[in-house]
Amino acid sequence: MTHFYSFETRLLHNKHKFDPSTGAVSVPIQHATTFHQSNSQRYGKYDYSRSLNPTRETVEQAIADLEEGCRGFAFSSGMAAISTAFLLLSAGDHVVLSQDVYGGTYRLVTEVLSRLGIEYSFADMTNLEAVIIATKHNTRVFYIETPSNPLLKVTDIKAISHLAKKLGALTFVDNTFLTPARQKPLLLGADLVIHSATKFLSGHSDVLAGLAVVKNEELAEKLYFLQNTIGAVLGVQDAWLVLRGLKTLSVRMKQSEASAKNIAASLQSHPLIKKVHYPGLSNHPQYHLQRRQASGPGAVLSFELKDEEAIHAFISKVKIPVFAVSLGAVESILSYPANMSHASLPEKEREKLGINRRLLRLSVGLEDVDDLMNDFSFALENRHYQINRRGEEQ
Ligand SMILES: *Cc1c(COP(=O)(O)O)cnc(C)c1O
Repeated sequence: MTHFYSFETRLLHNKHKFDPSTGAVSVPIQHATTFHQSNSQRYGKYDYSRSLNPTRETVEQAIADLEEGCRGFAFSSGMAAISTAFLLLSAGDHVVLSQDVYGGTYRLVTEVLSRLGIEYSFADMTNLEAVIIATKHNTRVFYIETPSNPLLKVTDIKAISHLAKKLGALTFVDNTFLTPARQKPLLLGADLVIHSATKFLSGHSDVLAGLAVVKNEELAEKLYFLQNTIGAVLGVQDAWLVLRGLKTLSVRMKQSEASAKNIAASLQSHPLIKKVHYPGLSNHPQYHLQRRQASGPGAVLSFELKDEEAIHAFISKVKIPVFAVSLGAVESILSYPANMSHASLPEKEREKLGINRRLLRLSVGLEDVDDLMNDFSFALENRHYQINRRGEEQ
């Protein structure tokens, strides 16, 4: 598909720029669940809203265009999108997943799909050898999250898609962290892209939504069948909120990413920080790969403090970010993966992956970057004073 307009312009000037029947410049919210049919033999395009709804359809078309795929599908949450996509598999199939996959996806695969006879293996997707070792004769899907959560490891989408094709398997990519503003997995060979649109695509921490885009019509028909059958579709009010958020995706991503780069560099040089994970830092192990396959490192980073005590002191002192789960919003969000997004991973498993109790994840919002950096250094240094004072008292 060749586009006349750039990505930024297409966020605003697309098929849904205005409503053809009224000229309204905002997509109308169609609440109707059923649609009158004027012909007893041939039904119209819309009949029942679970099957197709004009408001939901606009989000589905918008994301399909932005991801440069064949068709888009909107679901009631990211997990609804992921669950529906996984039901493309059948009993006896096997899936290989990124080892630090989103906690909800981990739970789905290990506790639900396993009951239905779908087998799984986790692999370090940054290591192609490890992925090949995890592969079985019945592997049907490679499931990638890149950059991964919360360690920001980068997987080579092209290489995994290539391997999948050789084996007759599909490649699914969770593109929540970067969005099509930074990374387009379908153009790198993936077959299906998934989003928690709750995050960057909507961007305001006020709507739960999931999206999926497929590469070809064959997969589109299969996923449509599942979407309509399972029925975890996105409601119309929420579809409107996603559309509203999408319009500013590019400017939000630009601003948050620029701040994230500064914050990552400044945290990296701080004596109380042991390690910063961010694919925009030149010492990140997949820095060059990230530059090759995405147009930027995104706005999420994680960092490890020297000890667990320092984490609690920092969280109690820091003022600007909300301390919460989730990411990709206008406000900065600081989270504690060990107790939040990755709480469903067994402790031993988590420690082995490096998601330890000293690690914090930061999703950078739209606040002034100097305010954010001052806030962080104050919170860190306050802790420093305490150590000194205690030292002197002894
Ligand atoms: C939040 C998230 C999900 C789950 O999406 P929900 O909208 O919360 O259901 C899946 N993958 C990633 C990477 C996420 O951050």
